[in-house]
Amino acid sequence: MVEVRGLTKRFGPVVAVEDLSLAVAEGEILALLGPSGCGKTTVLRIVAGLERPDAGRVLLAGRDATEWPPEKREVGLVFQSYALFPHLTVGANVAYGLRFRRGDRKRRVRELLDLVGLAGYERRKPHQLSAGQQQRVALARALAPEPRILLLDEPLSALDAALRKELRGELRALLKRIGMTALYVTHDQEEALALADRVAVMRDGRLEQVAPPAELYQRPRTPFAASFLGRANLWPGRVVSVDGDRAIVEVAGERIPAERGEALEGDEVLLFFRPEWVEVGEGPLAAEIESADYLGDRWELRARFRGRSLVVLTQEERRPAGSLRFSIRLARAVQHD
Ligand code: ATP
Repeated sequence: MVEVRGLTKRFGPVVAVEDLSLAVAEGEILALLGPSGCGKTTVLRIVAGLERPDAGRVLLAGRDATEWPPEKREVGLVFQSYALFPHLTVGANVAYGLRFRRGDRKRRVRELLDLVGLAGYERRKPHQLSAGQQQRVALARALAPEPRILLLDEPLSALDAALRKELRGELRALLKRIGMTALYVTHDQEEALALADRVAVMRDGRLEQVAPPAELYQRPRTPFAASFLGRANLWPGRVVSVDGDRAIVEVAGERIPAERGEALEGDEVLLFFRPEWVEVGEGPLAAEIESADYLGDRWELRARFRGRSLVVLTQEERRPAGSLRFSIRLARAVQHD
């Protein structure tokens, strides 16, 4: 439905986007995830036609739309700030999205408000709505002209944490119900994992990895993707042998089995594993606990294993201290940058 090929965009000396190619399938929710300034918004603005790329093409439903003006692209936009007209009612704000449309606008406005869970709110003014409700109005307005793709730029980031969680679930359900194709910009990894069908991790204007959430979390291809998507242990080591898709990685004299990834025998790699992949209590390895954070249902421990830092999770009554024994249940060899 949407494809960008070899996009590059510079602002003076800053390369905001560099040779980026990406495709979003019909009905798919793709999250563009990355730290502030990595170029996410610029990609979105280029797809919307609000910014011209220095190089590369934008294809919409298979047609080259690079030179098309924004209004011809049939994209809906939702931003962090709701940008509602304060003097217009909710109904009139949504109807604004229908200004080029014929037919029964009143009925369509009602349908859209129903869709976003705001039936009966037509006559209210934006200031009489909560922040979450205002964002739903903005969503209804963006969906009003039946865009072929919805572009969302940090749409939930102005809301408090609890509301953000609630709304992202609702938003995903709604997009799936109407089969909308969506490109969703966020710097919040949890939001990207929860909401998207696939996540595209960006770094310094480039794509680092594109994959479904679980694959990205379990099989990041780079140390950046591994640590941006959650807590990661990354220990330098060397692949001493491989067997099919398995490898033995030597770290500080210990031989630790791992998924091979793209590593070859003899490679210097990083042994990657998540805290929850560590079995604490018994096992061949020992580490010294440095600190413990209580998370309610478990402890997050920071420990030291032969000069390497280790983060693990445990369930204990009392604050853990001293040394711990552990084994690594699951690990993966990841190439250095
Ligand atoms: P954020 O999450 O903070 O919005 P982002 O990943 O969306 O970040 P962009 O807004 O795309 O990043 O910006 C990418 C880079 O391009 C940044 O270094 C930014 O300062 C720069 N940039 C973006 N727009 C412009 C502009 N109009 N003029 C000059 N520089 C710009």
